[in-house]
Amino acid sequence: MRVRVRPVALPGLNPINGPTPMGHEYCGIVEEVGSAVKTIKPGQFVIGSFFASDNTCPHCRAGYQSSCQHREFVSTAQAPLLRVPLADGTLVATPEVPSADLIPSFLAVSDVMGTGWFAAVAANVKPGATVAVVGDGAVGLLGVLSAKQMGAGRIIAMSRHAPRQKLAREFGATDIVTERGNEAVARIKELTKGIGADSVLECVGTQESMMQAIGSTRPGGAVGYVGVPHGVDLDGEKLFYAHVHLHGGPAPVRRFLPELIDLVWKGKINPGKVFDLTLPLDQVAEGYRAMDERRAIKALLKPQNQGNGRQEINAT
Ligand SMILES: [Zn+2]
Repeated sequence: MRVRVRPVALPGLNPINGPTPMGHEYCGIVEEVGSAVKTIKPGQFVIGSFFASDNTCPHCRAGYQSSCQHREFVSTAQAPLLRVPLADGTLVATPEVPSADLIPSFLAVSDVMGTGWFAAVAANVKPGATVAVVGDGAVGLLGVLSAKQMGAGRIIAMSRHAPRQKLAREFGATDIVTERGNEAVARIKELTKGIGADSVLECVGTQESMMQAIGSTRPGGAVGYVGVPHGVDLDGEKLFYAHVHLHGGPAPVRRFLPELIDLVWKGKINPGKVFDLTLPLDQVAEGYRAMDERRAIKALLKPQNQGNGRQEINAT
């Protein structure tokens, strides 16, 4: 019943200048709460997301908890214990402490599932729609699952890696496109009788992936972009003539936690399948290596101090 955390990084894209605490995806059992905490109780199994939020300010009430006026980034989750600020606003408890087989899915809900879901919401996925997903990392794959859950009629996953293509199909992809850039756009057009997709989920964050997403979208369609941009520079004229809706940003995972927890609890979705490697916390570096070398989609880390009464989350 111990937490863990995904190593999240875009290898090589974020410069690191010294020892840096990492990890922003987590779930676990509350050990202790601060005196101001009203609803979260010790012993509860809880899930939070990468931004702590009060869930009461105008931005939170509008459903944008990741832009909360009092947000705090949770960045040290790869640890035996974690302090979560704004606990009442940030954490959502499961109905009971879940069985071990559900933990990977609850861990996924904390970020990658919530982010893939937001990409689908931002891309305005509707029942029967044609959806394309750029990116076959955990977020992209769970974007496929989200689009399926929202009733998409056709889901085109862009992937070159066989294990990821397989999981994409398992999550609901109907077509796989292996091309990239302009060739990928041409392939999407070909698959959609020259029209383009109604909704495109951009889950990478590079110039190429963003232009691929915009180019694959039909006029009037929508791009939901959740890949953290690295060097993305949009051409105003291309954007003007593309005629697409753009919406994205850091996913307000907190908005979706109650619904996603319910779907996992009832066995309707199994996003934990993206974890294809489980490691003890002290082998976190191997988790990053495996992901970097595409040997793993995503690593689940387990803290070692099990059975000594310590639990993972220290909500304050
Ligand atoms: Zn707020």
